[in-house]
Amino acid sequence: MMENKGEIRILCAQDVPPDMVRRLQETIGSVEVLTSHDEGEIIKAIQDKHVFVVRSKSKVTANVIAHAPQLKVVARPGVGTDNIDKKACEERGIQVINSPEASASSVAELTVGLAIALLRHVYTTCALLKQGEWAKSKYTGRTVEGKVWGIVGFGSIGRRVAEIAQALRADVIAYDPYVKDEEFANKGVKRALRLDELLEKSDIVSLHVVLNKDTEGLISAEAIRKMKKGAYLINTSRGKVVDQKALFQALSDGHLAGAALDVYETEPPTDVSCLTIENLICTPHIGGSTEEAFINATEILINKLRMILRLGEGMPIGY
Ligand code: NAD
Repeated sequence: MMENKGEIRILCAQDVPPDMVRRLQETIGSVEVLTSHDEGEIIKAIQDKHVFVVRSKSKVTANVIAHAPQLKVVARPGVGTDNIDKKACEERGIQVINSPEASASSVAELTVGLAIALLRHVYTTCALLKQGEWAKSKYTGRTVEGKVWGIVGFGSIGRRVAEIAQALRADVIAYDPYVKDEEFANKGVKRALRLDELLEKSDIVSLHVVLNKDTEGLISAEAIRKMKKGAYLINTSRGKVVDQKALFQALSDGHLAGAALDVYETEPPTDVSCLTIENLICTPHIGGSTEEAFINATEILINKLRMILRLGEGMPIGY
């Protein structure tokens, strides 16, 4: 147990935002910030540290862990912990914490914004107007109101999307085999028992699953063909959930009216020529990149650290 915040030494990766470094200093302990993602530099600096805060670029390998005899926690603001050797941490009793809940509203708002942009041809008409073309009568949009919005993955982000889509008067259905019936009912969302059922019924499909061996390729060529002709697909989850090639084909041959991607099979995407398809909107993985998400992530991690390190009262529940 660590009673005194002055005793705690924190190492921050090079890309940890300065505001987070400042808050860690104010609330947890002393902070050293790395100047590169180089393993040698990490190993040199981590020897006497209790906490290592990383984003996605620094690798927390078994070798790094072996050189960190005092390490108690690896903290990752945000979601992905693929860069952390969790087995090596577990063997040493080092806790790995993250803050997926910090960006739920940010990702959900982008998802809904992309849907509206697709249905109203915002980017196409904007690009034409910038070239001098007044395409007022060329593009007729559609409303979210009255559409069936299918949510795949009813976790933090999926549920927030459901709330916003309902406020826009969409008829929301969701597919998630790991969520209890009452959780759909509590949100006033219809449950689809099979993915096919959701794909066949929805005018707008948005994806909010985690990436794992079951969800990789979940939206295959076959699944895309099961979607209604003229439907829209939005992926702000993980790129590998969708067969990207099959999606580009379905956009080009008119099976789908439009799609929006914030995430890609490889990032940055290698085949940028496909991104020029007119009815595709693409953003560079910005779903969680808001000032508010970074502030939330900082405060959530600080509360979790205070609980683990037993500093003061910490957060009473939930963390
Ligand atoms: P979450 O864990 O709260 O929810 C994920 C849901 O997926 C869970 O309810 C789970 O039961 C469900 N699920 C798992 N396997 C499934 C399957 N085979 N079929 C249907 N549902 C299944 O996660 P979250 O915080 O809501 O994040 C959702 C996704 O958004 C993740 O992939 C995450 O990496 C991604 N994300 C993207 C950004 C971005 O910047 N675009 C930011 C944050 C999160």
